[in-house]
Amino acid sequence: MDLELLRKTAAEVAARDDVKCLVGWKQGTYGYRVAPAFVEDAAGAAELIFSPLCTANLATYLTLVEQLPVPRGEEPDTRKVALMVKGCDSRAVTQLLVEKGIERDEVVVIGCPCPGVVDSALLAEKSPETEEPAEMKWDGEDFLLIRNGEETKISRDELLAEKCRLCRYPNPVVSDEMLGKPVETWELDEDKGVEEVEAKDVGSRLEYWMEQFDKCVRCYSCRNVCPLCYCQDCILDRLNPTWVNRSVNFSENTAFNIARAFHLAGRCIECGECERVCPANIPLGKINRKLARDVRDKYGFEPGVDPEAEPFQASFKPDDPEDFIL
Ligand code: SF4
Ligand code: SF4
Ligand code: SF4
Repeated sequence: MDLELLRKTAAEVAARDDVKCLVGWKQGTYGYRVAPAFVEDAAGAAELIFSPLCTANLATYLTLVEQLPVPRGEEPDTRKVALMVKGCDSRAVTQLLVEKGIERDEVVVIGCPCPGVVDSALLAEKSPETEEPAEMKWDGEDFLLIRNGEETKISRDELLAEKCRLCRYPNPVVSDEMLGKPVETWELDEDKGVEEVEAKDVGSRLEYWMEQFDKCVRCYSCRNVCPLCYCQDCILDRLNPTWVNRSVNFSENTAFNIARAFHLAGRCIECGECERVCPANIPLGKINRKLARDVRDKYGFEPGVDPEAEPFQASFKPDDPEDFIL
């Protein structure tokens, strides 16, 4: 990624009268940390980066911005939000457009063709966290780690995040500005995680998920980080009626995780953020990808690729499979 082009483009966008804020990535406070950057003028664009450490899906902020309360006596600020997106992030933007969670004229999309990001757990094994600033770059097919001025090349295979090994859309599917040329797509791994669970018999599968959901501490990080979990009135927060109790036990944890998974069926764009932030290391991606695959195979629908599509859960075709309806 040409940083000069990124910052020049971002500065032009941030300076526009119809843009209130540009959301991108910047170096975090220490080590490999990367933080979201909220740029409000051209000068702020100088801190923006795009690197293999820019894992976060910033599309989550599009709906959070809309939820900010308007101070009494003031008019809402209706200027656009500009957003830097990788391929997976752009699918979240597209799905939000499909669901009318946002309108197209509310957002300026800056597309970042993406060669793949690193898995932070694999990175920590290779190179323990440090308080000194460290950065990473793409280096041909591999990654370059720069720490204390020293450069270390690490092969792509050693660090690539699982979601990127399975990624079908590394290039943004929607954009107003595109930063550089599209990346070439790569040969995808088989989704062994989903296949391993599918291969289990029903009893073992239940046992597997019981063990996983039992670890859940109901922190709701998975929900809060998800760009498609943006209902202002979430079923999980309701007290009257209380659909899911707040107690942390296997039964309620399972109800929570299953409710979330089904609310994301045909909507999850496989950005992997829920699994990345889960402090209990629950393999949430396996549930989401299983449902995504079933929706793709059985209904021919893939969320977040066509802004003109009908929302999957709110539409039907006369020839949809319906054997399950009693
Ligand atoms: S899933 Fe695709 S677009 Fe998203 S970070 Fe990985 S390679 Fe990039
Ligand atoms: S992030 Fe993990 S631990 Fe927290 S609520 Fe979600 S599944 Fe449970
Ligand atoms: S459910 Fe997880 S993988 Fe799917 S869109 Fe939400 S955060 Fe991304």
